[in-house]
Amino acid sequence: MSQPATATTTRLRASSGTAARATELTKVYGEGETRVVALDSVTVEFGSGRFTAIMGPSGSGKSTLMHCMAGLDAISEGSARIGDTELSGLNDRQLTRLRGEKIGFVFQAFHLLPTLNAIENITLPMDIVGRKPDQEWLELIVGTVGLSGRLRHRPSQLSGGQQQRVAVARALAARPEIVFADEPTGNLDSCSGAEVLGFLRDSVRQLGRTVVMVTHDPVAASYADRVVFLADGQLIDDLPAPTPEAVLDRMRLFDAKARTS
Ligand code: ADP
Ligand code: MG
Repeated sequence: MSQPATATTTRLRASSGTAARATELTKVYGEGETRVVALDSVTVEFGSGRFTAIMGPSGSGKSTLMHCMAGLDAISEGSARIGDTELSGLNDRQLTRLRGEKIGFVFQAFHLLPTLNAIENITLPMDIVGRKPDQEWLELIVGTVGLSGRLRHRPSQLSGGQQQRVAVARALAARPEIVFADEPTGNLDSCSGAEVLGFLRDSVRQLGRTVVMVTHDPVAASYADRVVFLADGQLIDDLPAPTPEAVLDRMRLFDAKARTS
């Protein structure tokens, strides 16, 4: 599925550096007896043009980290940046605009509109705000997503894997700085999951995008360039060039440590 860089992809990949950064990010929910420290001073950078996976036990703060970095949830302390923009300095209107222009989000449930066909779903967020999709870019996404011939199908006429690929294409349509995907293969069988993971990887390798994905699955994580591990709201490890075996080894190590502590 991976192809060598072409002139186009080299140009698309020209931006380098950090797409998003959290610095000593702390997120506290509730107060008194219901107080939960969901993130405890997390510092992490997501490099531009890279595919990063986030792993960790249920409740370790993975979704919270994505929501805080995407400006969907207010942070308690520390800082979160998308590109050069500090999120805590923005009001609601500015945050909405930033999310529309610089951030794509993919959820476990596909959240497609049933009455619209695939291509209409892909361009919907831009249609809503009256932005014209860049036609050349749209064609690149559509070419990469591998749904040609099905773009006029409605969600009910598509498999789960195809629907989630539409959702990923929609997240990419506005050419965002970064795409956050929260367990995008959580509702899919392994075959459909592989289609979605392949597309996410191609969007990074061929289209120069930046993707951060939460997953529980070591095989899914191995599609990424790097895996970061969270436990109890803290970043506990960072694994480059992950293989399924290496990811599984780390998970076993953390489980063993958690049992003995
Ligand atoms: P993960 O995605 O790794 O499963 P979450 O980020 O969803 O973990 O949750 C981290 C912690 O924060 C958990 O203890 C969870 O119960 C708590 N939490 C998450 N969202 C909220 C919320 N809206 N209100 C209160 N507590 C929350
Ligand atoms: Mg979660």
